[in-house]
Amino acid sequence: MRPPFALYLLAALSGFSLSASAATDYPVRPVPFTDVRLTGGFWGVRQEVNREVTLPYAMDQCEASDRLKNFDLAAETLRRRAAGDVHFQNKPATIFPFDDTDAYKVIEAASYVLSMHPDPALSRRVDGWIARIAAAQEPDGYLYTFRTMHPDSPAQPWVGQRRWENEPKLSHELYDAGHLYEAGVAHYLATGKRTLLDVCLKNANLLWRTFGDGRLRVAPGHEIVEMGLVKLYRVTGDERWLKLAKIFLDARGPGGPAYSQQQALVVDQTEAVGHAVRANYLYSGMADVAALTGDQRYQHAIDLIWRNVVSKKLYLTGGVGALRDGEAYGADYQLPNDAYNETCAAVALMMWNHRMFLRSGDARYMDVVERTAYNGFISGVSLSGNRFFYPNPLVYDGHSKNNYGCAGRAPWFGCACCPPNLMRLLASLGGYFYAVKGDDLYVNLYSPDTASVKLPAGAVTLTQDTQYPWKGRVRLTVDPAKPAEFALRLRVPGWARGEPVPSDLYTFENPGATQRWTILVNGSPVDAPLDHGYAVLSRIWKAGDVVELDLPMPVRRVLGNAHIEATRGRVAFERGPVVYCVEDTAHGPTPPDALVVNDRAPVTSRFDPSLLGGVTVLELSVKQAAAPVMAIPYYTWDNRGLSPMAVWLDRADR
Ligand SMILES: [Zn+2]
Repeated sequence: MRPPFALYLLAALSGFSLSASAATDYPVRPVPFTDVRLTGGFWGVRQEVNREVTLPYAMDQCEASDRLKNFDLAAETLRRRAAGDVHFQNKPATIFPFDDTDAYKVIEAASYVLSMHPDPALSRRVDGWIARIAAAQEPDGYLYTFRTMHPDSPAQPWVGQRRWENEPKLSHELYDAGHLYEAGVAHYLATGKRTLLDVCLKNANLLWRTFGDGRLRVAPGHEIVEMGLVKLYRVTGDERWLKLAKIFLDARGPGGPAYSQQQALVVDQTEAVGHAVRANYLYSGMADVAALTGDQRYQHAIDLIWRNVVSKKLYLTGGVGALRDGEAYGADYQLPNDAYNETCAAVALMMWNHRMFLRSGDARYMDVVERTAYNGFISGVSLSGNRFFYPNPLVYDGHSKNNYGCAGRAPWFGCACCPPNLMRLLASLGGYFYAVKGDDLYVNLYSPDTASVKLPAGAVTLTQDTQYPWKGRVRLTVDPAKPAEFALRLRVPGWARGEPVPSDLYTFENPGATQRWTILVNGSPVDAPLDHGYAVLSRIWKAGDVVELDLPMPVRRVLGNAHIEATRGRVAFERGPVVYCVEDTAHGPTPPDALVVNDRAPVTSRFDPSLLGGVTVLELSVKQAAAPVMAIPYYTWDNRGLSPMAVWLDRADR
C-alpha cells in the first residue's frame, strides 16, 4: 500500500514534469482505494473472491480464447514485413476488433489487486502480457491488432480500409486506446513500471499528431478514450492529453447517430440516448473535462441528462439500458421488466455518478452508486466468482437463452466486455468509500474497512465495523493522529429518508412510516444537521472517538411511477439498499411474476447464515400458496440453479 502523494512523487522521480495538481479540479477529492482496505463484510468478501477466483479465471479465459494471441499475430506481421516478407498477413484469432480491451481491462484489474496485495507470480504474468502487447505496437505508436496483423485489407467488416476511417462507426480503434490508457496508468501506479505506460504515451503521441489542434475531426464511435486521456494527463501533467479529451468530446454531432451519442453537440445534449455503456462513459468524460478545464457547459449538459436518467430511465436495481436492441437507453419510462441492463452499463453508471458527487458533494449521486452496487452491478458475477451475467433483467422465465446465448449465468462470453469491467471496479471499489473537501470528510459507503485519510487538520484513521447491508448499524472509530477539528459527513442514504431514488420514479408505499436514523458519539445521542444528504458532525475529534450510525431497515414496499407500464399494479420489496426477487418454486407451478401478493399481510425478514453466503431473506404472503414465499436479494439470483425469477410481483389491491 502506497499513499497517494507518493504515487506522484514516484511519477516525478520517473522523469515526468508534473504539475503538482491541476489548477482546476473536482472540489471534492476521493480518498484513493489504495488508502482504504476492505476488511471482510459484504464488499471485503466480494473483493477477495474477485482477487482469488475471478482474476486468475479471467486471465485463463483471455489466454484460452486467443485474446493474447491476436497481439502475437500482429507482432509476427510486423516482424515478417520488416524482414522483407512484404505480403505477409495473419487472420485474427477472435471475432471482434475490441477484443484487445479484454486484456487491457484484466491488466487494469490485476494492477489494482497488486496495489493492495503484492504477488510476484501475478506481477510476472502481467509483465508477460505487457511484453506481448508492446510487441504488437507499430513503430509510429498505432496499436490495434486487427489491422496490424492484416494490413492490406480489412480483416473484419468493422475495421475500415484506412486508419480511423470507420472510427465513428464500429472500428473501436479509439475505444481500444482508451482502455489501454486506463490499464497503463493503473499498472504504472501499482508497480512503478513504465512498460505499459510508455506504450500508452507512444500511442497518445500518435493521436496528438493525428487529431490534436483540430487536424482530423473524428468522433470516437465508442467512448472511453476521453476518460483514459484524462488519466494520462493526471499522471504525466502533459496538457495535450486533456486537450485531446476535449477535442474528442467536441467532435461529436450534430446530426450523427443517437446510438453513439452523435445526434447533437455534447453541450447541447439533454437526454440519455443510445448505447448505454457508450453514453455513461461519455458523461463520465464530460464530467472530467468540465472539472479540469472549468468549462461548465459540459457539466450543465450532464446535469440535465442525469435528471432524465434518474427520473425516467433508471431501474429499481440501479441498472440502465432497457433495450436489448442496440444495448440502449429506452424512451422516457420505457422500463420493461425483461430489461437488458448490461453489467458494463452499471459499471459506467457508477463511474459517472461518482464523478457527479465529486463535483457537488451531494449524496444523491452516491445513493445511485449504492443502489447499483448492491443490485444491478454485483448481480453480474456469481457468488462463486466464475459465472457471469451480461444482461441483468428483472424477470426471467427459467429457460430463455437471454445471457448472450446462454440460459443462466455463463462461464464466459464471445463478447467478454462485462466480466473484466466488473473486476476492475470491484478491485478498486474502496475508492468510492471516502472523500475529502478541506476539513470535510465524507463517508459514502458502509462496509468493514480501515482507511487512512489526510486532512488539512491532520491525518486520520477511520475504522468501520458493520454488518451492512443486513443490519443498519455502523460503528465508526475515529483516530486522528492528534486531536483535530473537522466535520465528519455521514451519508444518510435516500432509502433511510423515505426516498428510494432521487426522483418520483419509485416511491415507498407509506413513506411517512420511515423511522428516523440516529447517531451516537461516544455513546451519547447527537442531533446532527442534514446537509445535502449527509449528517454533519463537526467537533474536535480525538483518538478512539466512536460514532454509531443507526439506519432502521424495515422491509419496504416499492411502487413504480404510474407512467411505467411494466410496474403498474405491481409491487417490489427492498430492505436497506437491497432489492429483492422471488425465484422460489416451492410454492407450486405459478411463476414468480404471476404471484399475487397479499397487500395487507405483514412481511417478515430473517438472516439465514447458510443461504447464498449469508443473506437476509423475506417471507411474503401470496394468494396462490398457504405457506409464505421466500424472497432473496436480487443480486443472488441464479446461484442455486436455473429457475424463473421476478422482482415486481402482482398486487391484490390493484
Ligand atoms: Zn459489457
